[in-house]
Amino acid sequence: MTKNSRKIKEIIDPQFAIEGAGVKLRRSFGPNRENLFDPFLLFDHFAFNKPIEGPPVGFPNHPHRGIETVTYMIEGNVRHRDSLGNSGVIGPGDVQWMTSGRGIMHEEMPKRGPSGIIDGFQLWVNLPAAEKMSEPRYQEILSDNIPVVDEDGVSVKIIAGKYQDVDGPVTEIVIKPLYMDVSLAPDKEFSIAIPLGHNAVAYVFEGEGKFGISEKNEGQNVGAVNMVIYEDGEQIIVQTNKDHSVRFMLIAGAQIKEAIVPYGPFVMNTEEEIRQTFLDLRSGTFGQI
Ligand code: FE
Repeated sequence: MTKNSRKIKEIIDPQFAIEGAGVKLRRSFGPNRENLFDPFLLFDHFAFNKPIEGPPVGFPNHPHRGIETVTYMIEGNVRHRDSLGNSGVIGPGDVQWMTSGRGIMHEEMPKRGPSGIIDGFQLWVNLPAAEKMSEPRYQEILSDNIPVVDEDGVSVKIIAGKYQDVDGPVTEIVIKPLYMDVSLAPDKEFSIAIPLGHNAVAYVFEGEGKFGISEKNEGQNVGAVNMVIYEDGEQIIVQTNKDHSVRFMLIAGAQIKEAIVPYGPFVMNTEEEIRQTFLDLRSGTFGQI
């Protein structure tokens, strides 16, 4: 029996936004009470910090509670430090999956690579009520330790989730995420199973491909840069024609199905919890870098 393939629900044209100390970025979606992309809260692409735009700016000392932040770099670096005593550099192809739990203070400062470009993504993942006040932790994985399945013009870098029996190195995340950097040469097809009920999105950042292909639907051409939001289904199929390659981040995860109250860098379940978060921040329970 053929699997039920996911169709496109919506294509989002990412909008420019300014965050941190003046970082210009493209935002596909941000935290919202409607929680439309449960368990995902935000997806930002900070690819627009070219030398011509002046000195690089970043995200100085700031707190998080109740979420996970996932940073993945294409070009350039992000230097980071946090209140747990960690510090390091996330370089091209590296990932940092940070689980803020009950609270972390950190600093994320982009640095240009040799080309002068800073190109990377930040994804925010929600935590269920039972995990919002958990111990903060993070997983930082260098590019060399992230498996790539590269076969016949289809290359899949597996940060989290499974593709062709290869598991990504990011584990023990509540929403059972799939997070992959996928490239197709011209005239190729990629398919992957996605659990029914998980929300899935694809962020197309290079080239063009046909998304939302199913038995009854021939799909739609989507070019860089656009965010594809999928309907439910058991698999995703992407094809390229003979004239174009495509590269996209494929992201999926289990829905949490709880009400959320976002406020800046915090996402909790009630307004009372947000008020408590500000009291805790003031009394210093988030620690210091
Ligand atoms: Fe942050």
